[in-house]
Amino acid sequence: MTFTDLNLNESLLKAIHDQGYTVPTPVQAQAIPFILEGRDMLAGAQTGTGKTAGFTLPMLQILSDKKTSKPHRKIRALILTPTRELAAQVAESVKIYGKYLPLKSAVIFGGVGINPQITMLRNGIDILIATPGRLLDHVGQGTVDLSAVEFFILDEADRMLDMGFIRDIRRVITILPKARQNLLFSATYSDDIKALASTLLRNPAEVEVARRNTSSELVKQSVIHVDCKRKSALLGEMIGKNKWEQVLVFTRTKHGANKLTEYLQKIGITAAAIHGNKSQAARTKALNDFKCSSVRVLVATDIAARGIDIDALPHVVNFELPNIAEDYVHRIGRTGRAGCEGEAISLVCVDEADYLRGIEKLINKKLDSSIIEGYEPDPSIKAEPIQRGRGGAGGGGGGNRGGNGGGDRGGKPTQKRDSGRHEPKRRDNDRRH
Ligand code: AMP
Repeated sequence: MTFTDLNLNESLLKAIHDQGYTVPTPVQAQAIPFILEGRDMLAGAQTGTGKTAGFTLPMLQILSDKKTSKPHRKIRALILTPTRELAAQVAESVKIYGKYLPLKSAVIFGGVGINPQITMLRNGIDILIATPGRLLDHVGQGTVDLSAVEFFILDEADRMLDMGFIRDIRRVITILPKARQNLLFSATYSDDIKALASTLLRNPAEVEVARRNTSSELVKQSVIHVDCKRKSALLGEMIGKNKWEQVLVFTRTKHGANKLTEYLQKIGITAAAIHGNKSQAARTKALNDFKCSSVRVLVATDIAARGIDIDALPHVVNFELPNIAEDYVHRIGRTGRAGCEGEAISLVCVDEADYLRGIEKLINKKLDSSIIEGYEPDPSIKAEPIQRGRGGAGGGGGGNRGGNGGGDRGGKPTQKRDSGRHEPKRRDNDRRH
């Protein structure tokens, strides 16, 4: 199948050609015809499948085909995303695919000044990409008019629910006009997603594409067993010895990301951290520096990394395993893209044995594991619950049995085991900025 078979107009075909795409991805091939028919849609697809073009291309075609009689531009399509990064990336895609069409788009999210957004909205746009918190700020201030929305897209809906956005989403839905086309994209189908879909979607077409990388041969996955306090030193050595030039490293917590970044910088490896406590400008800069290879290592938390689109990333390191097994799949999905081989290495300490078991159960595969000479785990160290457990990030020395050195769980005994998951709730605060 080609893009021409999908009945896309010349302007879109030209933009697709400019991007160098020749064949639609499976989600595009399945979703585009239904969307062009005007159907609502429930689509199971995650980042990396080409889902953004899968909804953006037909949306642009429908908007440009249907002439609006309104004299002043009003927002006709609203795309909600869970994170600022994803919002920015979707906005970029809308611009790229719509570059030969006379449609105006804008993106709004928290963490940046609201006034330029107000001016942008006042000038009139056709397509708005937004995170829920900031959108509702504008609704509250009366600076956004959603009365002409005919296209509503929820991107990464599962992540939005994880982040506690359900009430915000429901609020937005009540504001929208009743007659509209709705698309819901989600990587997973929980009961909550099904409940949301049943209230939002009318007779939806259902599209599901294979979860990328769960069975991918392209990602070489392995585990290295190492004591928590020695992970930083081992990682530094691996980057240096293997001459890795672009490595995405995951930590469970923001504090852990900062400490590890500082450690790597201290030993002369350029590194930047990306997480929810960083300003939008700092996150954008870190991502750009990483993309253009002026920093070798990007240290990220799960939420911050969601939706980051870096083609053909060769190395992903799980400095700490995620406490949610699903996140492992998202993490390793950052590598092995577009036919390129990738490598995902997890540094696992004794405290993380349960997480590892959960991941292996989810992906239905036992991961190859090894021990590195000079970094053999000390058998006398017994597992501790993660919330009180030893932190590894930044503990570059050879000490075996540290206290609460690294992760931000240290000294907070009342914090829940899944403390890493609390980051998104805080990011919901994007409306405070
Ligand atoms: P997404 O899942 O939307 O985040 O897209 C993942 C990546 O796939 C992005 O870098 C897109 O530019 C790229 N992409 C989207 N559609 C195609 C296609 N038909 N052929 C090749 N690459 C594509």
